Amino acid sequence: DLINGTLIKAEHVQPIVSPTRYPAEHAKHYDVMVVGAGFAGSVMAERLASQSNLKVLVVDRRPHIAGNAFDHLDAAGVLMHQYGPHIFHTNSQEIVDYLSQFTEWRPYEHRVLAQVDGQLVPIPINRTTLNKLYDLDLKTDEEAAAYLASRAEPVAEIKTSADVVVSAVGQELYEKFFRGYTRKQWGMDPSELDKAVTARVPTRTNTDDRYFNDSFQAMPLEGYTHMFERMLDHPNIDLLLGVDYTEVREAYTHDHLVFTGPIDEYFGFRYGKLPYRSLKFEHQTIDQEWFQDVAVVNYPNEKVPYTRITEYKYLTGQTSPKTSITYEYPAAEGDPYYPIPRAENQALFKRYEALAMAQTDVTFVGRLATYRYYNMDQVVGQALATYRKQFAAKQPAVKT
Ligand code: FAD
Ligand code: UDP
Repeated sequence: DLINGTLIKAEHVQPIVSPTRYPAEHAKHYDVMVVGAGFAGSVMAERLASQSNLKVLVVDRRPHIAGNAFDHLDAAGVLMHQYGPHIFHTNSQEIVDYLSQFTEWRPYEHRVLAQVDGQLVPIPINRTTLNKLYDLDLKTDEEAAAYLASRAEPVAEIKTSADVVVSAVGQELYEKFFRGYTRKQWGMDPSELDKAVTARVPTRTNTDDRYFNDSFQAMPLEGYTHMFERMLDHPNIDLLLGVDYTEVREAYTHDHLVFTGPIDEYFGFRYGKLPYRSLKFEHQTIDQEWFQDVAVVNYPNEKVPYTRITEYKYLTGQTSPKTSITYEYPAAEGDPYYPIPRAENQALFKRYEALAMAQTDVTFVGRLATYRYYNMDQVVGQALATYRKQFAAKQPAVKT
C-alpha cells in the first residue's frame, strides 16, 4: 500500500492519490529521497540501495516509472514509447555491463530516411543519399568526399549548428536536410544554436546508413519499463508515483535529496525560466501491418508541421496485423524535454548551478537538473559517476 510506500509494479501503475493521503502520523524517515524515476533517479536509487545499503524513497509526479524512456503496450498490444522513440546506443562497455544486470538486449541498428524533394533518402547524408538525390553514380568514398568538398563552404570558425553543416556539405544540402527540421524542432534558426546540436548527426562518404556510429546498439529485450522495474525492485527502495515531491517532502523526512527534475523549477525560477523545448506526441494505431519502410522517417520540410514519424514494431521486432506510430510536433509549451544548447542559456544555467553547488544535502543529476542534451547512456554514466564521487567513498550505513 502506498502509505507504507511499497514498490508499485509498473503494470499496476495508475494515476494516484492526493497528498492528503499522507497524514503526518504515517510519516517515515528515509536516508535519501530521489525525485524522478527516469534513468538519473533510478540509477542513483539502485546504487544507493544496493551498494550503500541506504533506505531510498523515489518520487515521480508521473503515474509511472522510467521517465521519458517509459514504454508500454497500447490497446493494439504494440509496445510503444509514450514520449517518443528511444533507441539505446553507447560506446561504453561499463554502461552496457551495468544495465545488463537488469535486462537482456535485442540487437537493433537504427535507420532513418528523410523525405526530401519527394524522395525518401538516407539521413545521415551518405553516398547513397547523394546518388539518389542528384542522380549521380559516385562509386567510392573518395569520389563522394570530392563531391562534398566541391559543395562545402568553409567557415572560419565553426560555432553554430548552421556552420557545422554548411562547412561539411554546403548551403543547398543544409537547407534540404537541416534548416527546416531544426527551425521546427527548436523554434529557432540553426545559426542561433550551439554547434553541438546538428553535430550529433554525422556526414558520411560511405554507404553506412545506420543513424548511430556507436559500438553497442540495442533495445532492452522486454522494453525499458521492465528494465526499470528490475532496477527499482530492491527491499531498500520504496516508490511513490503520481505525486510531486513538493507535496511529500515534509511527510517523508530524509537526510539527503537527489533531484533529477528541472533545476530552475527546484529554485523557484529565481533567476527566470531556463528554456526547455517541448513536443506534442500524436499516437495512432493503424489497421494495417506496416505504415512506412523504416523505424523513423524525418520530415525536414518546414511546411510539414511534424518533424518525424516513428513506427514502433521496427524497434521491438514485434509482429502484429496492426501497427502503431507516433508523430512529433515541436512545441514551446509543455513538458520540458530538451535543454536548448546556446550560450545565453548555458550562462543562466551556470547561475542555477552555483546555487546547486551550495546545497550540500542535495545532489542534482540528469538531463533536466544539469541542463545537458544527454542521451540515455550519458545520463547513466553521469549518475554512476555522481554516485561514486559523492556516496561510494562513504562507509555503508550500518543498519540495526
Ligand atoms: P527524465 O527521463 O526526464 O526523468 C526525470 C523525471 O523526474 C521525470 O519522470 C519527471 O516526471 C520527474 N520529475 C521532475 N520534477 C519532479 C517533481 N517536482 N516531483 C516529482 N517528479 C519530478 N536518448 C537516447 O539515448 N536515445 C534516444 O533515441 C533518445 N530519444 C529521445 C527522444 C525524445 C523525444 C526525447 C525527449 C529524449 C530522447 N532521448 C534519447 C533522451 C532521453 O530521454 C534522456 O537522456 C533520459 O530519459 C534522461 O533521463 P533523466 O532521468 O535525466 O530525465
Ligand atoms: N537534424 C536535422 N535534420 C534531421 C535530423 C536532425 O536538422 O533530419 C538536426 C536537428 O536540429 C535535430 C538535431 O539535428 O534536433 C539532432 O538530431 P537527433 O536526431 O539527434 O535529435 P533527437 O533524437 O535528440 O531529437
